[in-house]
Amino acid sequence: MKIAILPGDGIGTEIVAQAVRVLGALDLRFETETALVGGAAYDAHGHPLPEATLKLAQGADAVLFGAVGDWKYDKLERALRPEQAILGLRKSLGLFANFRPAICYEQLTHASSLKPELVAGLDILIIRELTGDIYFGQPRGRRIATDGHFPGAEEAFDTMRYSRPEIERIAHVAFQAARKRKASGSEGRVTSVDKANVLETFQFWKDVVSEVGLQYPDIALDHMYVDNAAMQLVKAPKRFDVVVTGNMFGDILSDEASMLTGSIGMLPSASLNSSNQGLYEPSHGSAPDIAGKGIANPLATILSAAMMLRFSLNQEASALRIEAAVQKVLAQGLRTADIYSEGTTRVSTREMGDAVVKAL
Ligand code: NAD
Repeated sequence: MKIAILPGDGIGTEIVAQAVRVLGALDLRFETETALVGGAAYDAHGHPLPEATLKLAQGADAVLFGAVGDWKYDKLERALRPEQAILGLRKSLGLFANFRPAICYEQLTHASSLKPELVAGLDILIIRELTGDIYFGQPRGRRIATDGHFPGAEEAFDTMRYSRPEIERIAHVAFQAARKRKASGSEGRVTSVDKANVLETFQFWKDVVSEVGLQYPDIALDHMYVDNAAMQLVKAPKRFDVVVTGNMFGDILSDEASMLTGSIGMLPSASLNSSNQGLYEPSHGSAPDIAGKGIANPLATILSAAMMLRFSLNQEASALRIEAAVQKVLAQGLRTADIYSEGTTRVSTREMGDAVVKAL
C-alpha cells in the first residue's frame, strides 16, 4: 500500500504529522512518501503542484492531504495560487466522488448550533459529484476582464449539464456506500437530491438515479428537491442515511451538514475515482490564523486517514479502530482549543495525536 503524504501549508504540516503517527501505530505495512504542495511547493519550485508531486500522487493508492493556502498568495495569478493544486489533483486523478460524512460525537453534541436531541447520534454521509454540473458547463472562460468581472455587460450565464455515465457512476458509488453502511447497522437508504421540478438536467439526474437504483433492491431510494433537503437537514437531519447530489447542490449541502456537528476541526473528507484511488483531507483549510501554534485539531485529518483505510486500502478493521480511538479520547475529556468547553482538558495538537496513538 503506497500513500502519498502531501501536508501543504499552515496547520497542514502539524495535523498531517499526527495522522501519520496514528497510521504508523497500526499493525499494517505502508510505503509512504512526502512531497510539497500548495504555497510550500510554490515557494520551493514556483508551482503549487510540481510535476514530481503530481507523479507521486498518481503512483500512490491514496493521497493524504493536509490543507493549502495562505493570504500571502492572494496576489498571485489564479493558476499559481495554492488552491489550484487541489483542482489539479482532482482533475488528473479523475476524482469524481466527494464523500463528506457528518457525524455528531456524543461528547460534542452541545457544540452544534442545533438542539442536542436533533443531532445526538447523527451519522449521515453526503456524496457530491465533483466533475460535472454548472461548474463545468459553457461558457466557461469567457470572462472579458482579468479581474473576473464584466464591465458594462447586460447578461451573464452558465450552462448546467450532466451526462448519463457521470450520473450512473456517482449513483453506483452512493448505493454501494449505503450497502456498506447497512452492513454496519445503518438504514440502507439513498436520498437523491435534485431540482427536477424546474431543471431538465435534474429530471434527467432523477431518472438515471432511479434506473441505477433498480440494481440495488436491498437499498431504499427516495428523491428530494434541494430546497426541501436544505430544510430537512436542519429540521430532522437524522432522517437521512446517504445523500447523493450534483456538484453545486452538494457543495452547499455538504457545508450545511458539516455545521450540524459543531466543529470544522472534526470533519474528514474523501474524493475518489473509479478505481477507488482517493484523496483524503480534512474539510477545513490551512487556518493561517493558528498555524505554528500547536493548537490545531488533528482529528479531522486522523479521521480522513481512517476513511483512506476504508475506501482506498480496504482495511475496514483498522478504520474502525481509529474511529473508536477518537471516540475514546473524546470520552476521556481531551479537547483541542476549537472544541474545548468547561470541565474538559485542553490539549495541544501533538498531545491529541499522542492520546489517539495510546488509545489505539
Ligand atoms: P479555514 O478552514 O482555514 O479556517 C476557518 C477557521 O476555522 C479559522 O478560524 C481556523 O483557525 C479554524 N480552523 C480550521 N481548521 C481548524 C482545526 N483543525 N483546528 C482548529 N481550528 C481550525 O478557512 P479560511 O480561514 O477561510 O481559509 C484559510 C486558507 O485556507 C485560505 O487560503 C483558503 O483558501 C484555504 N482553504 C484551503 C482548503 C483546502 O486546502 N482544502 C479549504 C478551505 C480553505
